[in-house]
Amino acid sequence: MANVVQIAVPKSNSSIAVPTGLFIDNEFVPSVDSKETIKVFNPATESVLCEITAASEKDIDVAVASSRKAFRTTWGKNVTGVERSRLINKLADLIERDAQTLAELESLNNGKPVKVARDFDIGDSVGCLRYYAGWADKITGESIEIDRKTKVAITHPEPIGVCGQIIPWNYPIQMWAWKVAPALAVGCTIVMKPSEITPLTALKLSELVKEAGFPPGVLNTVPSLGSVGGAALSLHKDVDKVAFTGSTITGRKIMEAAAKSNLKKVSLELGGKSPHIVFESADIDQAANWAALGILYNTGQDCTAGSRLYVQDTIYDKFLAVLAGKAKELIIGDGFDEKSGGGPVVSKGQYDRVWNYIEAGKKAGARVVCGGEKRSTPGYYVDATIFADITADMKIVQEEIFGPVLSVGKFHTEDEAIALANDTTYGLAAGLHSTDAAQCHRVSEALEAGTIWINQYNLLYNNVPFGGKKQSGIGRELGRNALDEYISVKAVHWNYGEKLDWPL
Ligand code: NAD
Repeated sequence: MANVVQIAVPKSNSSIAVPTGLFIDNEFVPSVDSKETIKVFNPATESVLCEITAASEKDIDVAVASSRKAFRTTWGKNVTGVERSRLINKLADLIERDAQTLAELESLNNGKPVKVARDFDIGDSVGCLRYYAGWADKITGESIEIDRKTKVAITHPEPIGVCGQIIPWNYPIQMWAWKVAPALAVGCTIVMKPSEITPLTALKLSELVKEAGFPPGVLNTVPSLGSVGGAALSLHKDVDKVAFTGSTITGRKIMEAAAKSNLKKVSLELGGKSPHIVFESADIDQAANWAALGILYNTGQDCTAGSRLYVQDTIYDKFLAVLAGKAKELIIGDGFDEKSGGGPVVSKGQYDRVWNYIEAGKKAGARVVCGGEKRSTPGYYVDATIFADITADMKIVQEEIFGPVLSVGKFHTEDEAIALANDTTYGLAAGLHSTDAAQCHRVSEALEAGTIWINQYNLLYNNVPFGGKKQSGIGRELGRNALDEYISVKAVHWNYGEKLDWPL
C-alpha cells in the first residue's frame, strides 16, 4: 500500500491528502514483504480515519540501510554546518506555511484542539527547528594544550551516526521536532518510528522534509507497531543510537535490546508522577491556575503532568474549592470547536486505562471533588477529575495515569511536603508555589526531579534542557545539552616534536 487518502476536515468543505506508505529515500513506498496495515482512529468520534502501511522488520532493515548510505555519502561528515542550518530553517518555514493543515490533522488523529496544536505544538516545533538550525554551524571542537612545543590534542564532535527515533502519541509533531532538530543539526541520519496510534502528521511532515531539499535517506519514516518496528530498531546492529519518549516499561525494553545487540547509545524520556506543592504564602488564585494547567493541559496526557498536588493544611479547603472551580471552567470537547481548551484522550486503550484508575481511586476511598462520571456521548472524553483526601499507598497516587485525574493531599511542615513529593520512583518534574524566596530555594534544592517550576508549571523553552532523574529517563532534550546526545567526540592526538626514546 503506497497511496494517498483524503481525510475530510470537519466543519469545512476541504480534505487533507495523507500519504499512507513508508517514507524511505524520499519516496512513499509499500512494505517489501508485508500487507499489514495500521488502522488510525479519530478519538473525538471513535471512527476510523484511514489505514496505513505497517513497516515490517525487513522494512526497518531497508530504512536503516538507506540512512546509513546517506550518512556515508550526502550527510554525516559530508555536509557543512551552514548547509544543515539552511535546510533545517527551510523545513521550519514549510511547517509554518502548512501550520493550519498540520494542526487539523493533528487534531483529527490525536484529539487535541486545532488552536492548541497550531499555536503551541507547531509554534514550538518551528521554534525548536530554528533553535537547532542556529546551532548547526556552531558545533565546534577544542584544541587542547598538551605541551606547546611538541604536542596538541584536537577534539572533533562527530555525528554519532544512524539514529532510531521512537516517539509517542501525546505530542506527535512536537516530539518529532524535539528529536529531529538536534539530530539533523549535528549531522545524524534518522529512522523515525512514530506511534502507531498517531502516525499521520509524521507522514505529512516527511513530505516537507523532501520539499525542503534534504537528500534521500537523511530522514526515513516507518510507522509500525512498537513490538515490531520499535523493537527492530532497538535491536538493530547498524543503528548507532536510539532516542525514545514513552512509557518506563518500554524504555526498559529498549535499553535491554541495546545492551543485547550493539551497545548503542540510548536516551530515554519516560513517565512521571510529578508533585506540585502549594505553600500557605502562595498567591492562591495563581497557584490554582498553574495547578489546573499542570493536570489538564493536553487532557493530562503529559509526561510532566502535575498529578500529585500537596497543599499546606492551613489553606487546604480554600485552595481545593478554588481549584475545583478552575477545573470546571476548562471545556474539554471536540478539537474543531473553538471553545475547547482540551480534547478527548487519544484512544480507546487510553480511555479504558484512565477510567480504570478513576474506579480504583473511588474504591480506595479517595473523595471525588469533581468529575469522575462518564459521558454518554461518543468520543473518548474524560472530564477533569479531582480526588482529595488521598493516602500514599493508593494506586492513583503511585502510578502514572496520563489523563486529567488529579490526586490532592495535605501537609503540615515543609519537610513533610518534600518527603511526600519525593516518595516516587519517578523524577521528571516538580512544582512549588510560595512567596518566601528562601523557601523556594530550599525546596527546589531538595526536590528530586530534572525540572523544577517555581510559581509556574509546565512551561518549557527550546533553549533550556529537559529530562528526568530516577526512573523518568536518561539524557536531556532541548538546549545545548540535546546536541551531546547525538555527538561522539573524537580526540586526535598530534605530535609535532616529541621524539620517543627506545627501548623504554
Ligand atoms: P509506549 O511506551 O508503549 O509507546 C511509545 C512508543 O514506543 C510508541 O512509538 C510505540 O510504538 C513504541 N514501542 C512500544 N513497544 C516498543 C518496544 N518493545 N520497543 C520499541 N518501541 C516500542 O506507550 P503507550 O503504550 O502508547 O502508552 C502507555 C503509557 O505510557 C501511557 O499511558 C503513559 O503512561 C505512558 N506514556 C508516556 C509518554 C511520555 O511522554 N513520557 C508518552 C506516551 C505514553
